[in-house]
Amino acid sequence: MKRSINVVFISILTMLSSIATAQETKEDGSNKPMMASAISIEEQKLVIDSLLSEEFDEELENPSDSLYGNLWDNATLNPYQVSIDSIRDTFVIRHLDEYVHPIENVVTSEYGPRWGHFHAGIDIRLHTGDSIKCAFSGKVRIARANKAYRRKGYGYFVVVRHDNGLETLYGHMSKVLVKPDQKVKAGDILGLGGSTGRSTGPHLHFETRFKGNPINPRQFVDFDNNVILCDEYYVTKEESFKELREYKRHPGRYYTIRKGDSLSRIAKRHHTTVNRICKLNRIKATAKLRPGKRIRVS
Ligand SMILES: [Zn+2]
Repeated sequence: MKRSINVVFISILTMLSSIATAQETKEDGSNKPMMASAISIEEQKLVIDSLLSEEFDEELENPSDSLYGNLWDNATLNPYQVSIDSIRDTFVIRHLDEYVHPIENVVTSEYGPRWGHFHAGIDIRLHTGDSIKCAFSGKVRIARANKAYRRKGYGYFVVVRHDNGLETLYGHMSKVLVKPDQKVKAGDILGLGGSTGRSTGPHLHFETRFKGNPINPRQFVDFDNNVILCDEYYVTKEESFKELREYKRHPGRYYTIRKGDSLSRIAKRHHTTVNRICKLNRIKATAKLRPGKRIRVS
């Protein structure tokens, strides 16, 4: 990052000095500086100051370098452990217009609290084998297709760190087609959709993260039209992480579903209503209760 700043710095200096020393030979033979009086030392300083300002730095460079430094981990989803409260307000994610929607299909589950945990992404229906495309340009950080994860968590999944500072996660793939540290462009195929991990049917689990903390992708993606909503997105503590903060403030009480349970029985046992439980868990009253799953009851 420093090197390219220096290159710009030196080339501007060269340009300024060549302008300042350019001589025009007049017909009478005398030399007159062409533009020396137009650019004073003060003005040169101003140009240089603006070149070195943080704003210019972010505009010109890959901001993920300054955001994440040398922390590059091929195994851990969130190696940063940055609390939301310590995130700088506001950070601008630029150049979102390169966005390519990972898979064009209907949303089957929203971001937010669900079944006794925080669902940190959006689920999109697909057919096993459908291509999953990379949302923005960047570099593959995690590409997990180890058999040991066939039935666990995200299953086979990919995490890409983007040049714009975001990270995206693509879960439950049937096949991963990229390798860690591979550079990717928006629209490149990362793998094929599937139902590996904790999944009840073929879908893509899609997350967008900033410094390890999930942001609702709906903040900048229009899932009805499969397009980006803005060219720039401002990461703020209040708006970007509101669901997660709310969840952490009021985690609620949970019950682990047992065989033979019904929503009405669970509601009665916890002195609440089926309606209230459905709202808390964002499920329908007809939702299938799987033994071992957690459900929020207050
Ligand atoms: Zn999901």
